[in-house]
Amino acid sequence: MTNFVFAPTETVALPIVGSVQKFPVRRVYCVGRNYVEHAKEMGFTGREDPFFFNKPADALLVIEDGTTGEMPYPPKTQDLHHEMELVVAIGRGGRDISVEEANEHVFGYALGLDMTRRDLQGEAKKLGRPWEVGKAFDFAGPIGPIHPVSKTGVLSQGAISLDVNGEQRQNSDLEKLIWSIPESIAYLSGLFELKAGDLIFTGTPEGVAAVQKGDHLVGRFSGLGELSVKIV
Ligand code: MN
Repeated sequence: MTNFVFAPTETVALPIVGSVQKFPVRRVYCVGRNYVEHAKEMGFTGREDPFFFNKPADALLVIEDGTTGEMPYPPKTQDLHHEMELVVAIGRGGRDISVEEANEHVFGYALGLDMTRRDLQGEAKKLGRPWEVGKAFDFAGPIGPIHPVSKTGVLSQGAISLDVNGEQRQNSDLEKLIWSIPESIAYLSGLFELKAGDLIFTGTPEGVAAVQKGDHLVGRFSGLGELSVKIV
């Protein structure tokens, strides 16, 4: 065994619905501006090439099925935004994966929130700086269990929504993605070698807005249940 100078960080792992096994997370990729109406609300046309950013795996907040996660309101922001997203879990890696074969690399799907310090992200954009301060902070990725594709089938449509304190804020359909899941996998795999354990946050629909301490967020995707998070 390797003689580490201190104990290495434990692998972040997601529960898998209907299984005692867990899904070990390697990298977390996120697709930016992937629904036309969200791209527009952020001041863009919705016709640009896909682009990506990362969150550290240990910035995920893993929420067990049927429980409510507690996300601490992060420091240095006054504009914490919710971005409800469908997350794709990669079960088989590859490089230059074709769009036609991309779905064969999918292990399953989860509900996730790409929480964003919008004020810090906006400042970074303005100054041409990286997005980490806006996107990659601790607890920035609340995520639920993985639903294996063997149970859900391949997903290309389905209602995605987010309620805050019982009021609907986001509501769209996966079929409105600019870059579909297979297209995102194919494009991403041309830039980076994908490996089993990678997650891809596929983008958020319109309706992103601020949350406050005490708010209760409930995200839904048809057939995949709920993701429940309280901001504390
Ligand atoms: Mn996002």
